[in-house]
Amino acid sequence: MEGQLALERGDPKQAILAFQRVEQQDPDYITEIITPLQTCYQEIGQAQEFTHYLRHLLEHHGCIRPMLALANIIKQQDGEPQLFDLILEKIQNPRPSLHGLDLLLDLALSKKDTISRNYLLLLKEMSTQLLKNQPAYKCTHCGLTARKLYWQCPSCHQWNTVKPL
Ligand SMILES: [Zn+2]
Repeated sequence: MEGQLALERGDPKQAILAFQRVEQQDPDYITEIITPLQTCYQEIGQAQEFTHYLRHLLEHHGCIRPMLALANIIKQQDGEPQLFDLILEKIQNPRPSLHGLDLLLDLALSKKDTISRNYLLLLKEMSTQLLKNQPAYKCTHCGLTARKLYWQCPSCHQWNTVKPL
């Protein structure tokens, strides 16, 4: 809120300082500051600094939102091979996600040259991992998902309601 106020009274530099404090205060909220920070850096004409900060967030927290913002920058600027490499390195941390998979597909499709084998291998690895974490069974009565088949649902205690997905 402090950042938003500073931005509204026309002080993007102060707003940047406020938004960046979120990282120390509670990194769970980093996703919330990406868009307003981008506005701030655009207002002071330092898009490059924004990219640097995103890289910093990615290196230290590895969350998906800075990755998405970086991916957009890569697509706009058509290139930035180091950013590509950074995303490839971080995309499976802390664990593969559907967001990550979607982002990687998006990046692969935005590349003008043919999709490289490394991309495909990484995509395959991620989808395998995601499928492994997918529950195989679900109770049709209460919605409980399970990795193994129960004849009696451990949650709602109905018989024969747990079905393979
Ligand atoms: Zn159930």
